[in-house]
Amino acid sequence: MCQDSIDQSAYSDLLIEEKFDDDLYKYLCDNHCHPHDDVDKLDEIAKLRTGHLTLMGVREQDWDTVKKVVDQSSIDDEDGVERCIPSFGVHPWYAHLVRGAARNQTEAAEQHYNRVLTSKDDSEKADLIQHLPTPSSDWLRTLRANLEKYPHALVGEVGFDRSARLLPAGAEHWHGVRPTEVRCTPEHQLEVVSSQIELARDLNRSVSLHCVQAHGMVLDLLLRKANEWRKKDMKTPFRICLHSYGGSPGILPSLFDIKRPVKVYMSFSVAINGRLGNKLLQLIEKVPDDRVLIESDYNTPTGIDDAMVDITKVVAKAKKWSIQQVVEITRRNWLEFINISAPSGEHRA
Ligand SMILES: [Zn+2]
Repeated sequence: MCQDSIDQSAYSDLLIEEKFDDDLYKYLCDNHCHPHDDVDKLDEIAKLRTGHLTLMGVREQDWDTVKKVVDQSSIDDEDGVERCIPSFGVHPWYAHLVRGAARNQTEAAEQHYNRVLTSKDDSEKADLIQHLPTPSSDWLRTLRANLEKYPHALVGEVGFDRSARLLPAGAEHWHGVRPTEVRCTPEHQLEVVSSQIELARDLNRSVSLHCVQAHGMVLDLLLRKANEWRKKDMKTPFRICLHSYGGSPGILPSLFDIKRPVKVYMSFSVAINGRLGNKLLQLIEKVPDDRVLIESDYNTPTGIDDAMVDITKVVAKAKKWSIQQVVEITRRNWLEFINISAPSGEHRA
């Protein structure tokens, strides 16, 4: 999710000069976005020119909004795939609100929060805990039910965030609000991610992963899971996408070298990655051609089409592809990632 407004001048040097042909909009696949966060503009989602949107649900209350948008969305007549693909998960910013699956589900709320939250400021933490709701015990069951109801749904947005701080009591959005010093422990984040990854594996769903200052943790977890699954002789690929990836280019080979059954994808946005400058071009260049995806990560429908055109132009520059090639390749990769084969056959952009 993106917390700042986006300024194109920050990344204008990264755009290829070729003009974007209007006919290509319908082939653009936004691999990760939150337009439904802007609840007053839900009607605008259907009017976007971008062909497909992967809608990220980040916590239990959000899942219902995602379902509402998806239930109203149409089927694309070009490829027979739904225009909006749902995704349900618990984001690391909300991980403290749920109980670990293997824990005592009746642990007192205060005890749970004292265990999963840390702060330099003890009184601020104690005060915030008084305002937090009873942590959810049902979330994993609800998540499973949602995934079963929507057979094309993904698991996400889930992940790790070592820098995120909780909002003060009563605040709903990060914009203009000074966060507290309270953080969710990496141990609890790992517990919450692991059970969601296992569920995804169980139901053969792809995962959309948020990762800030925790790339080592992600690599360790994926290596461990790959090992476990190989021992159980699981052959179906487990597809996971690190979205708006901004980590070091150095770790990329280790991620893409993880062997069967784990298959890592990487998705880029101008909203989050635009500020990386030339490092963004280097990152994209190092991602194997069949694993690169594009996204807006916007939390409003306004501007998604432009953001998708811009990230297409950045990928074109990094990969030395034409705009048409970027659209074609990222679309094919997206269909593979979400594990849908277009019923009417492989259309070319
Ligand atoms: Zn996001």
